[in-house]
Amino acid sequence: MSQSKSYDQIERRIGQIKAEISKLGPLRPGTLSQQYNVCGRPDCCCKGDPPRKHGPYYKITYSWRRRSTSEFVREVDIARVRAQLDSYQRLRALVDEWLGLGLERTRLEREERKNSGRKAPGKGASARKFKATHPGDVPSRPRRGRR
Ligand SMILES: [Zn+2]
Repeated sequence: MSQSKSYDQIERRIGQIKAEISKLGPLRPGTLSQQYNVCGRPDCCCKGDPPRKHGPYYKITYSWRRRSTSEFVREVDIARVRAQLDSYQRLRALVDEWLGLGLERTRLEREERKNSGRKAPGKGASARKFKATHPGDVPSRPRRGRR
């Protein structure tokens, strides 16, 4: 990642990311955890020595719109839920990479503009400096950052 990419490389990778996202299976956010419980019966093995607690019970915990929720997951659903969680993690990783590529492209565009020598005709460094301190006072280039 330390080596900078070209536009083509960035565009190609973004295309791959979009294609992979479109193929993702069902997903859901959250993390799966196991827990062992103690029940209310005084003579139960979960009170023994050593105690044999009940479980494992599977629980999924997730946040959605700032609300944290957890739900029990039946053992028969574990594999399916794990696959959904994996898809979610994959989506997050892909989106994260996509955002990084977007930032990289922005940086490339900025460098290209700097290196292309596109400046106001007949003006040099002093004009750029003026523009930087008084961005609104440049009548020769009213539209900055046009595409
Ligand atoms: Zn018990």
